[in-house]
Amino acid sequence: MDHFNYRDGSLHAEEVPLTRIAAEVGTPVYVYSTATLTRHFGLFRQALDWTDHLVCFAVKANSNIAVLKLLGDLGAGMDVVSGGEYARARAAGVPGGRIVFSGVGKTRAEMRQAIEGGIRQFNIESEPEMRALSDLAVSMGVQVPVAIRVNPDVDAKTHEKISTGKSENKFGIPIARAREVYAEAAALPGLKVVGIDVHIGSQLVDLEPFRHAYAKLGDLTRALRADGHQISRLDLGGGLGIPYRRDNNAPPLPIEYGQVIRETVGDLGCEIEIEPGRNIAGNAGVLLAQVVYLKEGEGRDFLIVDAAMNDLLRPSMYGAHHDIVPVTEPAPGAEVSPFDVVGPVCESGDTFQKGTQLSRLAAGDLVAFRSAGAYGAVMASEYNSRPLVPEVLVSGDHFAVIRARPTYEEMLARDTIPGWL
Ligand SMILES: *Cc1c(COP(=O)(O)O)cnc(C)c1O
Repeated sequence: MDHFNYRDGSLHAEEVPLTRIAAEVGTPVYVYSTATLTRHFGLFRQALDWTDHLVCFAVKANSNIAVLKLLGDLGAGMDVVSGGEYARARAAGVPGGRIVFSGVGKTRAEMRQAIEGGIRQFNIESEPEMRALSDLAVSMGVQVPVAIRVNPDVDAKTHEKISTGKSENKFGIPIARAREVYAEAAALPGLKVVGIDVHIGSQLVDLEPFRHAYAKLGDLTRALRADGHQISRLDLGGGLGIPYRRDNNAPPLPIEYGQVIRETVGDLGCEIEIEPGRNIAGNAGVLLAQVVYLKEGEGRDFLIVDAAMNDLLRPSMYGAHHDIVPVTEPAPGAEVSPFDVVGPVCESGDTFQKGTQLSRLAAGDLVAFRSAGAYGAVMASEYNSRPLVPEVLVSGDHFAVIRARPTYEEMLARDTIPGWL
């Protein structure tokens, strides 16, 4: 459920008509709903209310610091994968003690930044990383809490670019070698082993891969405890999918996901961490755009909108689908016809949908790309020198610009012409 609905024939974010945001901020623009973000975070909490837990929002899904502050104030922890994300989480007021640091290529500078600023745990992805972190911690005179990410070799049955838990993926250490690696970690003076980490992929629409992976984690927990390790936390990653099409079978609910966790690892007495990103932010946002031209082609008509692949990359990167809906509610039974919805960027890949059935739209009409709150703005670029897309947060009947659209002057000011030119 989200808070983007038609009221009086016009699409609203909560109580704010999207037409008002378009008039005041311009298009393209991302619009997020406070009520939806709050609701989705609450569902994960509720799903784990049977145990000690921390829901760490995956910052890479939506890293605007207003969004992070909203979630952080609700009690969320943060899962970060870079020094930049760590800085964002801290700027949003999230204490270091609620931040976990994931990612296969953490640099020493990033590790130092997090140790100095405070960290709940590092999720270690390889032996070289583990040794580097220990060396650094020793040189700083501290011992840092770590979980080791294991690769359980399960097929998440999702898009290959977002599948991370198969043995051929670059993530984590093979689960078969885990006992050996934990033995080395325990002997490294800069590390304090606190748990195990796993993350098998994103946009999972079936609970079985989770069940399979978490059951393996449960077995590993018992084996590591028998080896003498203190395993007090299990970080189960993110990955629960969302409905990208309204007409589709909905993926499992957070409460059902929580039940799988309880059934597989609930008896171990571990604190449970999860790292949902898409499921909290995805359906809490839309990308609002305006039709620039309706171009009649041979055998197909193009709807050319002012948003492009640089603003929303998922369709061209993953072939992903986003429902596109007109902001003015079509009359019941209004005639629809097929359109290719495209952006202005000079690439054929700048296509959002082919042959989508839409009611007749005209230049100047507004459309909303649904389910765009996760992996939307964060992947935006200025390709074709299109200024970085702005973001707006709605709460009830008011809204705020939480990232302004840069002016051309601001965009150009980042470049410098050297004196010798
Ligand atoms: C991307 C990622 C997540 C979040 O995945 P979602 O599908 O957005 O829930 C969580 N943990 C790690 C380590 C990730 O890389």
